Amino acid sequence: MTGREGELDREESLRRRLADLVAIDSTSTRSNRPMVDVLEPELSRLGFECQRQVYRDPAGVEKVNLVSVRPGRHYAGRPPVPPLALVGHTDCVPFDPAWSGALRLEARDGKLYGRGACDTKAFIACALEACARVRKHDAPLMTVFTADEELGCFGAKQLVDARLGRARYAIVGEPTQLRPVHANKGYCLLEVVVRGKEGHSAYPDLGRSAIFHAARLLERLEKLARNELRVELDPKFDPPFTTLNVGMISGGKAKNVIPGECRFTVEWRPIPSQRTEMVPEWLDEMVHELRQEEPAFEAEVQVQRMDRGVETPVGSEVVQLLVRATGKEPVTVAFGTEAPQLTALGAEAVVFGPGNIQVAHQTGEFVPVDELVRAEEILEHAIQQLCGGGAR
Ligand SMILES: [Zn+2]
Repeated sequence: MTGREGELDREESLRRRLADLVAIDSTSTRSNRPMVDVLEPELSRLGFECQRQVYRDPAGVEKVNLVSVRPGRHYAGRPPVPPLALVGHTDCVPFDPAWSGALRLEARDGKLYGRGACDTKAFIACALEACARVRKHDAPLMTVFTADEELGCFGAKQLVDARLGRARYAIVGEPTQLRPVHANKGYCLLEVVVRGKEGHSAYPDLGRSAIFHAARLLERLEKLARNELRVELDPKFDPPFTTLNVGMISGGKAKNVIPGECRFTVEWRPIPSQRTEMVPEWLDEMVHELRQEEPAFEAEVQVQRMDRGVETPVGSEVVQLLVRATGKEPVTVAFGTEAPQLTALGAEAVVFGPGNIQVAHQTGEFVPVDELVRAEEILEHAIQQLCGGGAR
């Protein structure tokens, strides 16, 4: 076989794998079992021992994580912690029903279009192809395919609770345009419920406006976002500080009713060095101060998500391996990934994959074919380097 034929072979195989995965509607609200039903037999065929972790999401829908290990040549019996895990999420964000090609992979101008083509089925296709091409290695190789990443990494959190999926190094698939991402900011969310007392708006002293009270809290939150949160800096990130956003607010029943309740969300993305509890602690302090000024002030803080940021040292072997293989310097991102969960399980994690996050979550999401092919070659290289051996 000539080199050129070998290349076409790889490209064609990747394209087929990706088309099969894109054809499955794995919108997060649905069960991801059909994805696992395709992945598991393929991994078994490639010599992996597969384990399903089944759970129900808050809506009662069955979700499945799939953790698979292929023992290395040098480890008969119970394998030690695998040196490498390839990690990808099987779920996708919803697609617009008007996008008729969402589940039918379409090739155009060197790009492959479809829901999940970029985020993150391209990486899963690369991982499978790399596992198929590098069949012999010394140490065990792991793959971890998760559910519910798009909803808040719930699948990966189930793995952490069960201590399942531990590896020395983890390559977490996300569209990074083949740049190794060694750190990401955390993602935290809470809701504040401010309670007042309803009454006729003509008699303000008979009620208590929850909206005016919320405004006092919001003013302090804005100062926090502009001042205190900008003191602790991490120059690796842009912007280099923890950002905070009040994205939604609601309250009141009618224009002539003193509002009895006001709710708003507070989302913040902490730099890895910062404790996630900082913002709720500051909020508690603000509520306490406002209560000193007015004893009837009433606000409740409901924390909904607290994922801290993570950072793997640039000198880590898995980061350096990807730097050498891609010729690209390690970078950071401000969006959440499953790297924190893999890190919690004990891995040094790096986020890496073909495609651009800017086109993910959109109609017309795509992955460039050349990046897809290159990502697969790099994963093969990573398996050979980290799991040893390398003979096909
Ligand atoms: Zn993703």
